[in-house]
Amino acid sequence: MAKKTVKEENWLLQKENGLCGLPAAKEKKIHSFCEGYKSFLNAAKTERECVREAVKLAEKAGFVPFQPGTAYAPGDRVYCVNREKAMILAVIGEEGCKNGVSLVVSHIDSPRLDLKPVPLYEKNEMALLKTHYYGGIKKYQWTAIPLAMHGTVVCEDGRRVEVCVGEKDGDPQFCVTDLLPHLSQEQSAKTLGKAIEAENLNILFASSPSEDEKGENRYKRKVMQLLHDQYGICEEDLTSAELEFVPAFRAVDIGLDRSMIGAYGHDDRVCAYPALQALLHVKTPQRTAVAVLADKEEIGSVGNTGLDSQFLAYFIEDLAEAEGLHGRHVLSHSQCLSADVTSAFDPNYPSAYEINNACSINRGVGVMKYTGARGKSGSSEASAEFTAHVRHIFNQNGVQWQMGELGRVDLGGGGTVALYVAGLNVDVIDIGVPVLSMHAPFEVVSKYDVYMTYKACKAFFEEGKE
Ligand code: MN
Ligand code: MN
Repeated sequence: MAKKTVKEENWLLQKENGLCGLPAAKEKKIHSFCEGYKSFLNAAKTERECVREAVKLAEKAGFVPFQPGTAYAPGDRVYCVNREKAMILAVIGEEGCKNGVSLVVSHIDSPRLDLKPVPLYEKNEMALLKTHYYGGIKKYQWTAIPLAMHGTVVCEDGRRVEVCVGEKDGDPQFCVTDLLPHLSQEQSAKTLGKAIEAENLNILFASSPSEDEKGENRYKRKVMQLLHDQYGICEEDLTSAELEFVPAFRAVDIGLDRSMIGAYGHDDRVCAYPALQALLHVKTPQRTAVAVLADKEEIGSVGNTGLDSQFLAYFIEDLAEAEGLHGRHVLSHSQCLSADVTSAFDPNYPSAYEINNACSINRGVGVMKYTGARGKSGSSEASAEFTAHVRHIFNQNGVQWQMGELGRVDLGGGGTVALYVAGLNVDVIDIGVPVLSMHAPFEVVSKYDVYMTYKACKAFFEEGKE
């Protein structure tokens, strides 16, 4: 019988609360790991910022830019960046990739309000910005909260301007206004999905007129003067910009016991950060270990920085060719943890879950055999064999895990990058941190589960090297 690493007296019970009887030293370790995670959250709120921070951490850990055609030796540490928005890191294993690679794939884009290409307008003596929401949001949650502006503007001559306003102490911030309750009788009678229209998610950007001009466009002109003074950009430059409005909150401890973290964008940095840390800390693994930080998961993994693109397959091909192998053979022997969040059971909404198959906070990393909607539509289901294999790795390495589905069957559903990796003929299973208020501007996770996800990724990378 396999070694039981959960407390012996509880081994018959599949799930237990990880905080019960947690030794103080371990708790300290967990909290200290999560301080690093909170700093990462505060430094990186967009996919580009995540890549920048990950490159910094990787270079500090001895990773160097990957050069296709180079023969790498076991223990070599490389990374490559795809268009500043996605990233692949690898530690070359003792046996290279001839028996496949161990992949952990997560994503670093999060739901937010993007600016439309022609965003700026004025109305009733205010300057506002039109937005187009990105990812699955409940629109009412994005009004009346402080927002920060992050992004990149590229001018016609190629000059780049990095923008980040609303994060530093004393910075101005922005918001989308909402109607006062006193005048909300009509709005309140609407359904939740209709009460706030997408075209009403307009950013309040400024309210003072330009002194140089009378009449129309005074408010718009004032904004453009300020943007020009600060960044040297004109209105047309906004058409070639990626400006994202994200919650201006910083990551904080939640609960009197500080057992949880509240922040914007846990989905999916709460898996990306543990996966990244696991790879940075891995010694020379047996098989080459690869971590992928992907973009565009929230809109279906489409586009050349999303997992539906070939950039991962090309990277594996390059690794394979350097060892005289075929990429398709390496992929066919590879195994993957698709590391993305799942929903945590919420006592305020018990009917949304089926309790026997729900993940709860503080019970470790969630394992989802499949995702999808209705009759498992759109899911990549892990095989019994691969699920057992992953269970074995976790159990042998003291990783507390729990099995779960997203929620009640036929209530909705969701997907991850798993199906795109599976499409490369890789064995793949979904694992990840259970989240409360997923996709809200302020999401909550348990520190214990974050740490268990780190341990899960590390054990997976180090498989066969006990
Ligand atoms: Mn996700
Ligand atoms: Mn998501």
